Amino acid sequence: MNMRENDRAAWLYGPLARCRAVFATKSVPWRIVLLGPPGVGKGTQAAFLTQQLGACHLSTGDVFRAARSQRDKTPSPVMAAALEYMSHGHLVPDEIVWQMVCERVTCLRCQGGFVLDGFPRTLAQADSLRKLMEKEQLKLDAVVNYVLPPAEIVARISGRRTCDKCKAIFHVTSQPPLLQGICDHCGGRLYQREDDHPESSAVRLDAYEKSTAPLIQFYRNRGLLVTVVATGSPSEIFQRTATALQARRESGQALRPATSVAY
Ligand code: AMP
Repeated sequence: MNMRENDRAAWLYGPLARCRAVFATKSVPWRIVLLGPPGVGKGTQAAFLTQQLGACHLSTGDVFRAARSQRDKTPSPVMAAALEYMSHGHLVPDEIVWQMVCERVTCLRCQGGFVLDGFPRTLAQADSLRKLMEKEQLKLDAVVNYVLPPAEIVARISGRRTCDKCKAIFHVTSQPPLLQGICDHCGGRLYQREDDHPESSAVRLDAYEKSTAPLIQFYRNRGLLVTVVATGSPSEIFQRTATALQARRESGQALRPATSVAY
């Protein structure tokens, strides 16, 4: 596996920040969207994809969490409002999310490609992204939709633990750390995200059904949807993802020039 290290500074902290390194892939860069309910493992798969494809992991949730953890900086009123929505499990309003993405448009243009995780989450966001990519003459290669039975989704959310330093993700039963409560990678403290608490996660699942699930049809209509069953271990799910993406690229579906696709 190709180990990549990218601090994602421009994405996490905005256009004034500079990434420590940008990886130009030797092959055609991948531009991918990950879809699926909360807890399905998009963040974990995005980390695998980043390592394997060199594409940067662009998570909108991580931008909000980074703003919250900047202790030396008071968030702007808009960001403070966004964090309030987030802490209760509600979607942040489209205008706020869209403004945040537009400020980071260089990340969409990045020569290393990208894996969008948690964005778009509504039809309005998907349509705005479509227009922006058209304007930038960029195209999506695929939208990976992870599917999982509802009972398993709840179990994944309730057992998920995140490192407060490097943001690595663990699970109390299926992917436990070597030392309880301690990150294997950096020794950081593992915690349960506020929005993974039962009251908030119910709100998030509801928001997913109402606002995000319609994106499946949106992307299916555009010939971009790749469905991956998200049962099994993270590496098994990744193997399925990689095989499906490779098959797509080999069949030429992910290589058509921007001008010839409907997306
Ligand atoms: P995630 O880490 O993707 O699960 O996102 C965590 C939370 O951030 C969500 O539950 C929302 O409150 C907020 N959020 C992240 N991305 C978006 C988005 N694209 N649209 C609206 N809210 C978002």
